[in-house]
Amino acid sequence: MSDVLNYDADCLFCKIIKGEIPSAKVYEDDLCYAFKDIDPQAPVHFLVIPKAHIPSCAAVTPDNSAMVAHIFEVIAKVTKEMGITDFRVVSNCGPQAGQSVPHLHFHVLSGRDMTWPPG
Ligand code: AMP
Ligand code: ZN
Repeated sequence: MSDVLNYDADCLFCKIIKGEIPSAKVYEDDLCYAFKDIDPQAPVHFLVIPKAHIPSCAAVTPDNSAMVAHIFEVIAKVTKEMGITDFRVVSNCGPQAGQSVPHLHFHVLSGRDMTWPPG
């Protein structure tokens, strides 16, 4: 795998990008990495993360927002290649909202009926 930008040695997802912790790759390019969630909440559940260490949605700025747009292009491409038409994209921001890993990530969930609002 290519080097993570702004590597944070204490960050789980930076370690995954570097290959220091194993993961099940779904997609990779120069800017982002997608891998299966270790604790899937739906038949399809993968995460898409920037290779740059961005802590959360709250740290998105004009300087890095093109990355977020790129990730959404990747989500559209990868789901299409998987034959998935119905899916949910979630990004938890902060512990009260359920964020457990402080490296920006987008959950992509599919393959079952989903309710709204989320818990
Ligand atoms: P969140 O709770 O929104 O911050 O999401 C973090 C996600 O990372 C959870 O769904 C975890 O199951 C997932 N996760 C934690 N460690 C790993 C790992 N080593 N490989 C894949 N997914 C992981
Ligand atoms: Zn990180």
